Formats: sequence, structure tokens, C-alpha cells
Amino acid sequence: FMRLKQEGKSRDELVEMGETFNDMIGLLAESFMRQEQFVSNASHELKTPLTIIESYASLLKRRLRDRPELLEESIEAIHSEAVRMKGLTEQLLLAMPRSEWKIEREPLDLLPFAEQAVAFFRSAYGREIHVVLQGEDSVTVMTDQDKLKQVLFILLDNARKYSNDRIEIELGRADKDSYLRVKDLGIGIPAEELSKVFERFYRVDKSRSRDQEPIGGTGLGLSLGKELADAIGVKLVLESIQGKGTTATIRIP
Ligand code: ADP
Repeated sequence: FMRLKQEGKSRDELVEMGETFNDMIGLLAESFMRQEQFVSNASHELKTPLTIIESYASLLKRRLRDRPELLEESIEAIHSEAVRMKGLTEQLLLAMPRSEWKIEREPLDLLPFAEQAVAFFRSAYGREIHVVLQGEDSVTVMTDQDKLKQVLFILLDNARKYSNDRIEIELGRADKDSYLRVKDLGIGIPAEELSKVFERFYRVDKSRSRDQEPIGGTGLGLSLGKELADAIGVKLVLESIQGKGTTATIRIP
């Protein structure tokens, strides 16, 4: 401070520098807090399914002979928890540097593609998703199938987590683009938060949920979705009305 004063900085300049410095500290602290929250959420979320898988596996080992009815329940739990862990580890992997991403475009028929995702969500979560094809017999696009699938899965997973009612995938063409749209009738996102949900680690108020129970998540899904979408040259747009539901649209040129 004294040195800066000796260098001839005016009082106003010094005050301004001090304020800028304070703002920077504030931003850094906020970013650290979000990262800490994320690490704690992610470790918790990995540990829970692992504990469930471990206890069901050990239950099967010890008790299967005298209680054969345990088999179905255990397999069900092990499967769904493994699916949950897979989702989370995929997210963690995707959070790594993306200079390695390879993009491979090929023709893709969106109807069977959407139906595959629907079958997965039915078997993994018991959630029925309706596919609605708008006005065409088929919609074929040129895209990277794996990455598009990851984007679609992120959107479907959110629709599943933040709603209890009908989930729909609509697909069709508009202007020169094709689109895939995931619609849910869930809790929605407040207008002032809509642009923030694409930020890494950002989650709308954690206490807010369909059953007053916190919903597990990392706050990474949509930011990864956006980055994947950018990488393959498709647009990801979110529209939402709080309390009414959310519509996420993937536009493919
Ligand atoms: P996560 O779901 O793991 O928290 P995301 O990045 O996918 O992370 O989403 C960020 C936040 O946006 C979520 O925490 C949630 O508050 C909100 N959100 C995303 N999708 C929906 C949706 N379909 N309905 C309501 N809220 C949503």
C-alpha cells in the first residue's frame, strides 16, 4: 500500500484497486465453495450406490440358499445402482480436458435412436417416455451418434429427476433443421435461473424438489450437455416455466 502510494497512485485509484481486489476474492471464494460442494456431492453419490451394491451382493452370498426370493430384489437393486454410478462416472470423465474428443459424423435415423433411449429408461428406472414424431416418416441427420446420445440422456435424466408425470420426446423438422425435444411437466426452472443452469456445478436451490426431498445431482449435466452440443455443432435450448415444466430442444442442422 505504502509503495503504491509512493509510486504516486491517488487515493481514488487505490480505493478502486482495493475494491477490484475484493471482488476477485469474492468470485474465487464462490468458485471454491461450488467445487467443494461438488466434490462432496460426487463422493456421496458414488458411495451410496456402492454401499447398496455391496450389501445386496453380500446378502445374496450369505442368504440366497435359504431365501431364493431375495434374488430378484437384489438383482434389481444392483442393476439400478450400477446404472446410477455409471452415469456419474461418465459425468466425471467428461469433466476432464476435451482436447481429446473425437467427432465422428454418420447418418442417423432419429426415431429408432429415440426409441433406444426410451427402452433404456424403462428398464433402468421404470419410467415410460413417449416418442412423438411430427409429420414425417423418418428424420435422418448427419451427426456424432455417441455424443448426441449423451446429450439426450442428460436431458432425459433431468426430465426423470425433476418430474413425476408424462415425459415426451418429440422429433421432427423445422425450417432446415431437425430437432429432438424433451418435454416434462415437472417443477420447472425459475426464469432468473434459466441461464445459470448451464454453468458448471450450478444447481437450482437444492431443497426444492417434487417430494420436498433433495434430489441427487452434480450440477454438471447441462454444462456437459452444452459443451457436447457445441462440439458436434448442434444447438441446445432450454425453455421452462416454474411449476409447469421444462422443454429442452436439440436443433441439428
Ligand atoms: P444436476 O441435475 O446434476 O443438478 P444439471 O446441470 O443437469 O445438474 O442441471 C442443473 C440444474 O438445473 C439442476 O440442479 C436443476 O435445478 C435444474 N434443472 C435441470 N433440468 C431440469 C428440469 N428438466 N426440470 C427442472 N429443473 C431442471
